[in-house]
Amino acid sequence: MATFNFELGELPPEAQKVREEIRDFLARTLGGTSATKRALSWGGFDREFSRKLGEAGFIGMTWPKKYGGHERSALERYVVLEETLAAGAPTSAHWVADRQSGPLLLRFGTEEQRRRFLPRIAKGELAFAIGMSEPDSGSDLASIRTRAERVEGGYRVNGTKIWTSNAHISDYAIALFRTKVVPDKKHEGLSQFLVDLKSEGIGIRPIIDLAGGHHFNEVHFQNVFVPDDMLVGKDGDGWKQVTTELAFERSGPERYLSSVQLVIELIREAGAEPGERAAVVIGRLTAHMATLRQMSLSVAGMLQAGQNPNLEAAVVKDVGTSFEQEIPEVVHALLGIEPRLGSGSQFERVFGYLVEHAPSFSLRGGTREVLRGIIARGLGLR
Ligand SMILES: Cc1cc2nc3c(=O)[nH]c(=O)nc-3n(C[C@H](O)[C@H](O)[C@H](O)COP(=O)(O)OP(=O)(O)OC[C@H]3O[C@@H](n4cnc5c(N)ncnc54)[C@H](O)[C@@H]3O)c2cc1C
Repeated sequence: MATFNFELGELPPEAQKVREEIRDFLARTLGGTSATKRALSWGGFDREFSRKLGEAGFIGMTWPKKYGGHERSALERYVVLEETLAAGAPTSAHWVADRQSGPLLLRFGTEEQRRRFLPRIAKGELAFAIGMSEPDSGSDLASIRTRAERVEGGYRVNGTKIWTSNAHISDYAIALFRTKVVPDKKHEGLSQFLVDLKSEGIGIRPIIDLAGGHHFNEVHFQNVFVPDDMLVGKDGDGWKQVTTELAFERSGPERYLSSVQLVIELIREAGAEPGERAAVVIGRLTAHMATLRQMSLSVAGMLQAGQNPNLEAAVVKDVGTSFEQEIPEVVHALLGIEPRLGSGSQFERVFGYLVEHAPSFSLRGGTREVLRGIIARGLGLR
């Protein structure tokens, strides 16, 4: 039977040095940003911040210098991710491109695509969206129906993507389309494309979430022309490629740190001498966080080594999002304070934001049930 492969390791001295650099950068750049803004975590979208972060060399950190990268290790990059999340920096304008679109192009893109897109991503100039889910295909991603049909010089795309975060404020999407219908073999005939979101025939309609916010969208494609040079990898290899992309998407520290501002506020609220119950809760949350961090770091190492740690990434996301969802509940049980949004203390507002948003943590990037299916299959149990 297969087993999990989580190798534990220490952060090297150069990663500790980067920690000082990024902390210094964040302290200078974020200044007096309020706790409520910091609670948005990697949901905050601010192109100006992303540009400054890129300028300082903190985007595309592991990529080759010839593509605008900085040839640093995955562990150095990891430190930057955890520090930006812990500080509640508004990272959304570069997060997807840095985390998955850029690495995907590095692995499967053409030389021309790498030269065209990677340096601009590393400068924090390009925002990418993820075009996977469709109205009838979320968990069962291989059942997508949006068609990209071969025409002279490229493909003609028709169909709809849904839940596309930030499509309305992004420049490009990496989208999965069906280029061929292979009866009874839904994983075949899929291909990935770079899509310019300003292309003629693309209509982007907002979806307002339960908390009243607009971050995701429906993206309609009506006879949209996508040129040949925007195909990523090989026509028909989309499924193999997209699973690599999902491993990039699922294993990072954003899968257990989305509620970290509430932990920080809880520690502030508990003060220098917390009561016994508060000390137990804070100790337990910290221990869980440290364990998740080791697991997530180990996946970062495997990704760096060019492996495809799908199974381990699914474990990190499932356990990590359960943890970050549990934090508002634990805080509620400990303090008995009701969450507030527009009023109340800073602590209550951060709490209110997370109570509203935590349910989505285990949906985005693949639901709990689906991840557990992947884990069971990976362990040879089904
Ligand atoms: C905040 C947020 C941001 C998102 N951003 C993006 C984005 O940018 N781009 C993008 O492409 N998508 C995005 N998504 C979509 C997300 O990936 C999907 O919502 C998710 O994959 C689930 O698909 P679905 O909503 O169609 O649910 P469904 O697939 O219809 O699932 C409904 C329920 O059935 C369960 N279920 C389904 N299949 C099985 C099974 N085989 N076994 C057991 N249970 C099952 C699921 O776990 C779930 O509870 C986002 C979602 C959220 C919440």
